[in-house]
Amino acid sequence: MRYISTRGSAPELGFCDALLAGLATDGGLYVPQSWPRVTPLATSNYANQAAHIMKAFVGDEIDAAVFSQLCDEAYSSFRHPDVAPLVQIGPEQYLLELFNGPTLAFKDVALQLIGRLFDHVLTQRNQRVMIVGATSGDTGSAAIDGVKHCSNVDIVILYPNGRVSDVQRRQMTTVESPNVHCVAIDGTFDDCQDLVKAMFNDAPFRDANSLSAVNSINWARVMAQTVYYFTALQSLGTKASFSVPTGNFGNVLAGWIAKQMGASIDKLVVGSNSNDILTRFFDSLAMSMQPVVPTLSPSMDIQVSSNFERLLFEMNNRDGLATAQQLQRFRTNGELMVEPDQYSTWITPTFRAHRSTDSETLEVMKRMYNEHKMLVDPHTAVGIAAAEEFAVRGTPMITLATAHPAKFPDAVEKATGVRPGLPEHVADLFERDERIVNLPNDLQAVEAFVASHHS
Ligand SMILES: *Cc1c(COP(=O)(O)O)cnc(C)c1O
Repeated sequence: MRYISTRGSAPELGFCDALLAGLATDGGLYVPQSWPRVTPLATSNYANQAAHIMKAFVGDEIDAAVFSQLCDEAYSSFRHPDVAPLVQIGPEQYLLELFNGPTLAFKDVALQLIGRLFDHVLTQRNQRVMIVGATSGDTGSAAIDGVKHCSNVDIVILYPNGRVSDVQRRQMTTVESPNVHCVAIDGTFDDCQDLVKAMFNDAPFRDANSLSAVNSINWARVMAQTVYYFTALQSLGTKASFSVPTGNFGNVLAGWIAKQMGASIDKLVVGSNSNDILTRFFDSLAMSMQPVVPTLSPSMDIQVSSNFERLLFEMNNRDGLATAQQLQRFRTNGELMVEPDQYSTWITPTFRAHRSTDSETLEVMKRMYNEHKMLVDPHTAVGIAAAEEFAVRGTPMITLATAHPAKFPDAVEKATGVRPGLPEHVADLFERDERIVNLPNDLQAVEAFVASHHS
C-alpha cells in the first residue's frame, strides 16, 4: 500500500514513512492510494480484529506477527476485556465506550498503538525522534502515555499554565518516565500551538533535534480509529448509523473510511458544540472560519477541522492540486465553497450534522442521569444530542462515547449534582508526584529547553 498527499505534490510514501512524516512536505495529509475492502474476522478479540483490519494499510512493511504483537500490547492497556464495549441505552440506541484506556479518552485507542509503532520503526532504523506538541488537555496525556515506554522517543508537551483541568494536568505531569517532559507555558493554548509551529518552521532547529509530531492528522491515528466501527457493528449484528462528537474530524472520518472498506454504516452524524464550522458547512455548502469560543466540551473547541482535508480531497475526485488551490483560497479569504453536485454526491448520502449549545449539553447529561442513572461526559452528550435528532426507526444509532465522565467532573457535577469518581486504575492520580517545568511564552526559552533534552 502506497500513500499519497491530499495536495498532490509530495512524494509517495510507504506506511512506515507516512507514519513518521505526519504532515506531507507539500503541507497535505497522507491517504492510501485506494480504499481496501476488508472482511472482519469472526472473532470478538479486539486486538486480533485490529491487526486484521489494519493489515490492509500496513501491508508488508511490518512483519504480520510483529504487528499483531504491537496490537496485543496496545490494547492490553485497556481496562475492559472488550476494549470498546457497546452498551445499550434505549431501543435502537447505543453507546460505544471508547474511554477505557489509560487516559480515559478515545485518543488512547490510536495513541497506544502509535507509540509502539514509532518505537518499532525507529528501533529498526536506528533513529531517535523528539515529539513536540501543544495540548489543551486530552491529546497531550494520551500522547505521553502512548510513548512513555518508548526507548527511541522523547516527548515535550506544552500546555497553557492554569488552563487545563486538574485531572488533565495530572495525567501528564505524574508520568515518571525520563523521556517525558511537560512544560507549563505562561500563555493560552494558541500561544502553545504557535510555539510548536514556530519550532517546526525553524528548519535548522527542527532537523538538529529530529522533531516529530503525533497530531491528529497522522494517518496512523485515523487508521487505528477505523477498527472500532467494525467491532461495534459486529457485536450489534446489523447495519447502523453512528453519531460522533467532532472536533478535528479525525474520528468521524475514520467512520467514513470504514464505510468505504465495507462496514455496513448508514449515516454518520457529526456532533459539534458552539464551535460549529462543520455544522455550518453541512447547512450551507460554505466553510467559513470564526473565532473559537470556550465550551463545556473543550476537546472540540477548534476553529478549523484539519482532517476534513481528507474528505475534501475525495470530493475533488482525488485531484490534489485542485484541493491545494481550494485550501489556499480558504487561508486567504477565510471561506471555502463546494459545488452542489459535490455536496449531493459526497455529503447528502452519508453525513448529517447537529450543533449543541452548552445548555443542551447539560440537559442531555442531566436526562441521561435521571433516566438511566448513567453519567456521561460533555463530549459524549453532544454526540447523544446529535444522535437523537437523526434517529430513524429501524436503524440502530451508535454514539461514540469519547471520554470518561471523571475526566470532566465539573461539567458532570454541574449537570447532575454528582461528582464522578476516578476509575480504579487511576484512582491515586491526586496522590502522585507532579513533574512540571514552567517557561515563559518565549520561543528561545522553549527551544533551549527542547534542545537540552534531545539525546
Ligand atoms: C479529541 C476529542 C474529540 C474530537 O475528536 P476529533 O477526532 O478531533 O473529531 C471528542 N471528544 C473527546 C473527549 C476528545 O478528546
